[in-house]
Amino acid sequence: MKKRAVFLDRDGTINEDVGYPDSFERIKIYPYSYEAVMKINKADFLAVVITNQSGVGRGLIKEEVLNEIHERMKEAFQKKSARIDQVYYCPHYSKSSIPEYRKECLCRKPHPGMALKAAEELDIDLPESYIIGDKVEDILLGINIKATPVLVLTGFGKHARSRLKEMKIEPGFVAKNLLDAVNWILKKKEKETAV
Ligand SMILES: [Mg+2]
Ligand SMILES: [Zn+2]
Repeated sequence: MKKRAVFLDRDGTINEDVGYPDSFERIKIYPYSYEAVMKINKADFLAVVITNQSGVGRGLIKEEVLNEIHERMKEAFQKKSARIDQVYYCPHYSKSSIPEYRKECLCRKPHPGMALKAAEELDIDLPESYIIGDKVEDILLGINIKATPVLVLTGFGKHARSRLKEMKIEPGFVAKNLLDAVNWILKKKEKETAV
């Protein structure tokens, strides 16, 4: 049977959005994120991070460093008994001076590339899955892959909420933060199983 996933945006959702952090020390993980991911694990969803990291294409951070940041993030979660199953990132930037990253790619959110790759590699049922993020792009991605999008009001969330209103797009839910979003998803799941 295919698995369900909760796709998680990184900056502004799991950790504070500080621009283009170039070391793990600059990543401030919100204190409730560990509990949120643990709850995702316990409910048998995959916890899959999908993140636009154009800082790589912009020459602000090396891809090795980005990978190291993600390894250390995974370790930080493991230490708190929470498991991030996989991290996908888009390093591209359409105006990059580095040829390998200069690309109008299909992985940069709201394009579906990262989610489609995850679905293929991890056997995910996309319409039964969720995406939690703080930007319009996260919500649009959810719509593109027919998963349920949840907006968080951390990071750029408040700005995104007004933009979505203008665009007449309604996320599945607007949550205070990541933990609130996960609690909503789990309550919804409980209701489904009760039927
Ligand atoms: Mg974000
Ligand atoms: Zn890309």
